Amino acid sequence: MHAPGDVRVEDRPDPEIVEPTDAIVRLSATCICGSDLWPYRGVEDVDHTLMGHEYVGVVEEIGAEVKTLKVGDFVVGSFVISDNTCEICRAGFQSKCVHAEFVAGTIGTQAQKARIPHADGTLVATPGQPDPELIPSLLAASDVLGTGWFAAVAAEAGPGKTVAVVGDGAVGLMAVLAARELGAERIIAMSRHPRRQELARFYGATDIVEERGEEGVARIKELTNGLGAHSVIEAVGTQESFMQAVGATRGGGHLGYVGVNHDVQIPGIQLFFAGIHTLGGPAPVRRFLPELIQLIWDRKIDPGKVFDLTLPLEQAAEGYRAMDERRATKVLLTL
Ligand SMILES: [Zn+2]
Repeated sequence: MHAPGDVRVEDRPDPEIVEPTDAIVRLSATCICGSDLWPYRGVEDVDHTLMGHEYVGVVEEIGAEVKTLKVGDFVVGSFVISDNTCEICRAGFQSKCVHAEFVAGTIGTQAQKARIPHADGTLVATPGQPDPELIPSLLAASDVLGTGWFAAVAAEAGPGKTVAVVGDGAVGLMAVLAARELGAERIIAMSRHPRRQELARFYGATDIVEERGEEGVARIKELTNGLGAHSVIEAVGTQESFMQAVGATRGGGHLGYVGVNHDVQIPGIQLFFAGIHTLGGPAPVRRFLPELIQLIWDRKIDPGKVFDLTLPLEQAAEGYRAMDERRATKVLLTL
């Protein structure tokens, strides 16, 4: 991305092994993330930035110290590099690894190939070569599914719980799927967009709330005997959505927030009197990858439906336009 709104597909040198813990992956598919729209819209700085952080593909070359992968393995990677061995990783927070590095910006996986550092700690091999129809779902695991799943776990979605999801983008929809898989009793999707409402219902939403802000909070309270939801997932990252999520969480409830925050100011006094648990941030997708890959492999979940436009990598600029104009929820780029 040369500048906001200016996406170009250009030739770069092929990546090479630099560290003995690296792997070179030839990508099978990649995609555009809702978070890529922040720089596209000029909300985040961008200057000739290498874009893309979601990826699946085949290992083409490994460094001398890579132990868990071999050439030819099909792999799914997290959007944050991790060693998966440090104290933080072992506690399940691989996105805060002592060796954490964001794939976006430095590596950029809207590309044919990528060098993945700490390959053993970042990539997970699938049980075999996937059927082509599984590739979109495996690609979703790389970020949106893993992030939605983390949000649902952070919000302690589970049996007997009412879960409210703020945000109907790909991550919000994946959080609905995760809440259902984790056994939530009732799942309220907050959305005004008919196609996304339909997808939310497909993934397990039992109720749809169209109101936003204070009206949205009032509607959640109405649906929960005035208490608020046990579990609330914030998957947007704006002032309105964040405060809506805080307001919709019942006292003692849990808020999982994964929308990348932009200029959100949280009034301390409001958070204080909310009396809620909060956990969020960049999702430790690596923690969940083995389980998510297996669920996809066994065809128990179908997160790939979240992609509603497929374009060749060469047409990436059109993909960004389609997402920016909300003509597409999530764009898959083929190679
Ligand atoms: Zn680590």
